[in-house]
Amino acid sequence: MNAPHVHSNLDIDWSTEAIVDRRNRFYSATQRKFVPYKDPLILKRGKGQYVWDEKDRKYIDLLGMNLCISVGHAHPQVVKAATEQLAELTHCTTMFYHPVPAQYAEELVATMPAGHDWVVHFTNSGAEAIDLALLMARSHTGNIDMLALASSYHGATFGAQSVTGIAGFRHPVPQLGGVTFVAEPNQYRGIHGEGLQPYLDEVERAIASSTSGGLAGMIIEPVQGYGGIVPMPPGYIAGAVERVRAAGGLCIIDEVQSGVARTGDAFWAFESHGIVPDIVVVAKGVGNGIPLGAVIAKRDVAESMADKFLFHTYGANPVACAAGRAVLKVIKEERLRENARDVGAVLKGRLNDMKERFPIIGDIRGRGLMLAIELVKDGATKEPAPEETLAIFEETRRNGLVASRSGPYRNVIRMCPPLCLAMSDVEDVVDRFEKSFAAFSGQ
Ligand code: PMP
Repeated sequence: MNAPHVHSNLDIDWSTEAIVDRRNRFYSATQRKFVPYKDPLILKRGKGQYVWDEKDRKYIDLLGMNLCISVGHAHPQVVKAATEQLAELTHCTTMFYHPVPAQYAEELVATMPAGHDWVVHFTNSGAEAIDLALLMARSHTGNIDMLALASSYHGATFGAQSVTGIAGFRHPVPQLGGVTFVAEPNQYRGIHGEGLQPYLDEVERAIASSTSGGLAGMIIEPVQGYGGIVPMPPGYIAGAVERVRAAGGLCIIDEVQSGVARTGDAFWAFESHGIVPDIVVVAKGVGNGIPLGAVIAKRDVAESMADKFLFHTYGANPVACAAGRAVLKVIKEERLRENARDVGAVLKGRLNDMKERFPIIGDIRGRGLMLAIELVKDGATKEPAPEETLAIFEETRRNGLVASRSGPYRNVIRMCPPLCLAMSDVEDVVDRFEKSFAAFSGQ
């Protein structure tokens, strides 16, 4: 089925200079700042795992528009579901009843561990959902103190910023009180080195020394995204959550990047960690690019806020929820979780081969289609190589890849393509990386 090709009569100026000029003149500093490349990349259209710029140059999209594109750009089933709903009833506030968000809530609940009573609160974005999760945990427990991980990213609102452990995203204003950061159990460059115990000991120490002893909860990304693809090692989440629950707190899992079949092992990344969270935050890939977020929480946790109003005007928007329903269906029908697992494993293997040839590559990590290359000046000292990363990153663009640079030292190349990246794309991706690394190292 093809997307309907109906064009508006809006006058769109696609000239490169005009786009750049208008953006510079009319976007605020904060909206202009976050750009990956020296020269602007203008994107015109996307299909599946590919995007095209305004000059019709094709790229393999290894970023999926910051992981928002899960099942593929312009997926016909998502386009159809959303456009049909758009034409019929574009919005229906939750003051009124509509089947689409309600059925979507049921379908989201079905993705969660059985044997628990889950409910959904829809938002428009990840950060809104994070704020709600923090509020819910504090309302339910009656406690204030919250643990978060260093090098985490949870969003840009006041609440989400307060639990974000990267200075560049924290603005110089008073943040929410009661947040204590503990070291992220980064097995490549964490401050306690490899292993679990020292990181779990730190959780215990932090509860004993930096909180009242009674916790609201702890918030964790199963794989830190902007932190540079830092997967929580097996046993860490379970160990941390055990200590947090002993102090009366809840387990909040941020699946905004790692969820929706991304890691290939399970639909939600937390499922591979042997825990059942109390609150799960989802966004990005659930909507395949349509603004959509949600908190999925145990009923008794959500119920503790029943006395107050809390709504997001566009939360449960039927167009977004129609897209969300189509995403769930497509992931199942096209076996995209299995695809992420299999293609990701082969790609990771090939990147590991590349590591042997380029000493600047310090680490290859991640699971499924959430992978990273970390670049270091020296393999022994692991000194980060941000300038070299930038140079190679610029090369990857010239070679037709859209990836991303992340991590607190900006020395990590992050790959989170649409889940439909095909096995037949792997050689292409690796060739383009090889060329980019070779151009930099003069090989
Ligand atoms: N959590 C994580 C892990 C994220 O990566 C992001 C966005 N990058 C957010 C929360 C916030 O989502 P949003 O930008 O939709 O507010």
